[in-house]
Amino acid sequence: MEAELTGVAVEEAPEPEAPVSPLAPTKVGFVSLGCPKNLVDSEVMMGLLTKAGAELTTRAEESDVIVVNTCSFIESAQKESVNTILEMLRHKSEGRARKVVVAGCLVERFRDEIRKSLPEVDAVVGTGELEQIVSAAGVAPSATVDSPFRILTSRAEGDARAFQGRFSRESWDGAISDLPNYLYDETTPRVLATPRYTAYIKIAEGCDHPCSFCIIPQLRGQFRSRRFESVVAEAERLARSGVREITLIGQDTTCYGEDFDLKDGLALLLGKLAGIEDLRWVRFLYAYPNKITGRLLETIAAHEKVCSYMDVPLQHASATVLKRMKRGGGAELFLRSIEKMRRIIPNVTLRTSFIVGFPGETEKEFEELCEFVRAAQFDWMGAFAYSDQDGAGAYSLEKKLPGREIERRRKLLMKIQKAISKKKRKSLVGKEFDLLLEGTSSETDLLYEGRTPMHAPEIDGKVFVNDFPEDRQPQPGEFYRCEITEAHDYDLVARII
Ligand code: SF4
Repeated sequence: MEAELTGVAVEEAPEPEAPVSPLAPTKVGFVSLGCPKNLVDSEVMMGLLTKAGAELTTRAEESDVIVVNTCSFIESAQKESVNTILEMLRHKSEGRARKVVVAGCLVERFRDEIRKSLPEVDAVVGTGELEQIVSAAGVAPSATVDSPFRILTSRAEGDARAFQGRFSRESWDGAISDLPNYLYDETTPRVLATPRYTAYIKIAEGCDHPCSFCIIPQLRGQFRSRRFESVVAEAERLARSGVREITLIGQDTTCYGEDFDLKDGLALLLGKLAGIEDLRWVRFLYAYPNKITGRLLETIAAHEKVCSYMDVPLQHASATVLKRMKRGGGAELFLRSIEKMRRIIPNVTLRTSFIVGFPGETEKEFEELCEFVRAAQFDWMGAFAYSDQDGAGAYSLEKKLPGREIERRRKLLMKIQKAISKKKRKSLVGKEFDLLLEGTSSETDLLYEGRTPMHAPEIDGKVFVNDFPEDRQPQPGEFYRCEITEAHDYDLVARII
């Protein structure tokens, strides 16, 4: 599959300054891979480049510089990143591009290796060096070393883990340079790549948790939060520019504010954002299970604008597997926590994800997970095949499962969830919801597509709209009242009332 360049929907930045370059603007194309957190990094880099005088393009063939913002979460993501770099390098050897810059997580993992194996790559920019993109792309000279973007807060838990070596990359072949500690703020220029009515806000970066399958802490650094006022100022500015839905993200949003001793920081932030008049929906992703407080749940329940939606990646349900994953918890505890969420937030939508086939996962432990999924009745669920990561704690564990067996288990778990999802969707028929219309369907021009508060951007099922009142013109980005008329395994069909 050919890599697509990241689209540019809305320019959103503080007062633009005069371009630095006196020459014709350098045209820069961007490929953003991976998760929404990486997308925000791409948006910040696009903002910095635009402010420096570059022009963004969505066409690789007309780019002077192509930036590939890579993902390195699992092996398949690394492969996709490398293939995309190779594909973009062809625009340099055969086309117009003068430079190809590689940014993101793959750089943090294989900085030296990329330089050695891919000498045609002109520059690398790690996740902690976003402001260097301007000089790397040749748009302006290097930024000063004393960057205002450095964040110096940390949590005691993170400091202790750092002392124990959680963030060390010394044994990683090909990965050098300091641990990232960058985090943008409300003054950083940013060009949104999402549709004009929706935006992500990264409220924190890095992670202090010890999960043994994960190398994100080594790639992204210690947990640090953005200042409360900075997030609010950015949300207000986005709302003024036409954004109606904000999704708060971070590796772990529920630790927000702990590094500057803010208690229940996420709850306070949600309450504050719910007071921004022009915003219609606010939600957050990536909650860590044991960080969900009663106050957080009560805040979600108390504010109409805060979507009744909880995304809590649980990773497994067997206490013994979770112990090996260095996460703790287990089915019984999780079920109690889910019961509490459902009690405090009526009609809450629950999303989770699991890793199947962790080293040593026995048939019995897997069956515990299946049993838990049947009992928990999640609205949305993802299941990922365990992928061995050199540098993660689990890499040295014994009893690795064969790939085919992991895939068998993943498919089985998804089959269980499919039946649950079908039943859940069916129960929605006849009910009314607010719907954010997103445009004509990607599957057919005859239908529109939208989302309700139960659907986070891009990850959950779809709502197809097949009936609009004759006197109303469908407007993407507008909110409508809809009635669900049909249900499928994951998707819904609705009519606008
Ligand atoms: S919470 Fe665990 S899985 Fe998530 S980013 Fe942190 S270490 Fe990785």
